[in-house]
Amino acid sequence: MDNNALAELLFPDITETRAEVEARYPERVLPEGACVTRIGPSPTGFVHLGNLYNAIIAERIAHQSGGVFYLRIEDTDNKREVEGAVEMLIEAMDYFSVRFDEGATAGDDNGAYGPYRQRQRKGIYQVFAKELVSRGLAYPCFLTEDELNAIRDSQTAAKENPGIYGKYAEKNRSLTLEEIKANIEAGKTWVLRYKAVMTDEHISVDDAVRGRLEMPRNCMDFVLLKSDGIPTYHFAHVIDDHLMHSTHVIRGEEWLSSLPMHVELFGALGWEQPKYCHTATLMKIDPENGGKRKLSKRKDPELALSYYRQEGISRDAMWEFLLTLLNSNFEEWRLANPGVSYLDFPYTLEKMSVSGALVDLEKLRDISKEVICAMAPEKVYDEWYAWCAEYNKEYAELLSKYKDRTLAALNVGKGGKKPRKDIENWKQACDFMSFYYDETFKVYDEMPAECDGDTVKTFFTKYLESYDHSDDSAAWFDKVRAITDELGFAVKPKDFKKEPDKFRGSIVHVTNMLRIALTGHANAPDIWEVSHVLGEDIVRARLEKWV
Ligand code: GLU
Repeated sequence: MDNNALAELLFPDITETRAEVEARYPERVLPEGACVTRIGPSPTGFVHLGNLYNAIIAERIAHQSGGVFYLRIEDTDNKREVEGAVEMLIEAMDYFSVRFDEGATAGDDNGAYGPYRQRQRKGIYQVFAKELVSRGLAYPCFLTEDELNAIRDSQTAAKENPGIYGKYAEKNRSLTLEEIKANIEAGKTWVLRYKAVMTDEHISVDDAVRGRLEMPRNCMDFVLLKSDGIPTYHFAHVIDDHLMHSTHVIRGEEWLSSLPMHVELFGALGWEQPKYCHTATLMKIDPENGGKRKLSKRKDPELALSYYRQEGISRDAMWEFLLTLLNSNFEEWRLANPGVSYLDFPYTLEKMSVSGALVDLEKLRDISKEVICAMAPEKVYDEWYAWCAEYNKEYAELLSKYKDRTLAALNVGKGGKKPRKDIENWKQACDFMSFYYDETFKVYDEMPAECDGDTVKTFFTKYLESYDHSDDSAAWFDKVRAITDELGFAVKPKDFKKEPDKFRGSIVHVTNMLRIALTGHANAPDIWEVSHVLGEDIVRARLEKWV
């Protein structure tokens, strides 16, 4: 077989040489040790938590080392592509503060190593495909869908490995140039396959997360270019990561089984492999049987990144949560370094877990409360407002109408050693904070059983008579105690516990009346602080309803 003639026959329009392509992608000028990383999502219209999870690793590795982090759109599978999916992906990453230095942008590209959408790189892949053909390392395969199915069936029946190799590859490997020409002229479609060697050799790869991996060397005549001339993921990834100078390929562990193909291609093309980092699959505890299982697109809404956005989980909480999942020492570091940015955490690939990463929404809730509690009220306001502007427009109007009151409210309970952690996400904040606005205020809880209608009336009458909005909290509380005593309730809860028959209840019941009247709930922040956020008019108006 004249391989050069075959290469010309298959790729008559490809005139650029490998050297010319490589010259367009020069070495990057970066400091010593700088890492170049990317995410390569497919625009399927479903952005999942794993996209953010891998993005955070890649971003940290690049930016901690003074390197480059870029976005490449892996759109080689046009059957799965959905209109607007690229924009959706870029927007989702942006929402969660993933900042790319280079790569695909909505409708365009930013950077010198593009194009960053694989379909636009068709001609580049074909230069290397043509070269492999001319070196006798790739060949056109005319197997039809039916023939492929028949091979698969017979392999299944004989319990053989599926795929095209050995005897299954023979027919197409041994076609003559004339036969190939005739097939093409007859309009038969073909894919380009890699010509693998049948061997029982093993390869070893040092995975940055998993350590040394030993695997059988690839024996499959796998597909390089599909019948439309678009490459498979395998071929595209190798060429792109080489030309774009990725130093690390961070991707899910589902790619481990195809690693031998990638190693084979790097070898065939004479390129150095990047460092592979195969990350653990996202898992959850199945609520039905308590066992660990993979997160499922069908069953688990929390696999979709949009879920966290809709629920109003703050982006900082998402990062802290994922960093906790990703690096076993993050939590310890966080305790030792409260108040500093998670970006100061020294992220390392070595500290990553290799067994499935457990997505625990309870844990996310706890982290979110901590994160929001530690945020400055202005930041809480801005993020909460932005969320409302998207998901709860009426509430956004309230927040902007009562901005000062809201900022003051966000400060309630923040003094002292144990600040309140009332807000867990922006959606729940709308419920929790609703009592600060007359428009949304509602009484949910019943007055305590110890306080009958007359007691409620008498209490609020007396309270309002003695109420002086300018009292400090000590003076205010003295008055509450005095009324408590007058009504026959114990001023000290423990006295009531000791001698319940002597009192009608305790100060806890009395202050609960106040909390319920002012906030709608028995469980609420400090009454004096809340009263000062609401202002005298609102306080009086809410209490007068009970008189
Ligand atoms: N397109 C691949 C995916 O969506 C990306 C794998 C990689 O990052 O190399 O899973």
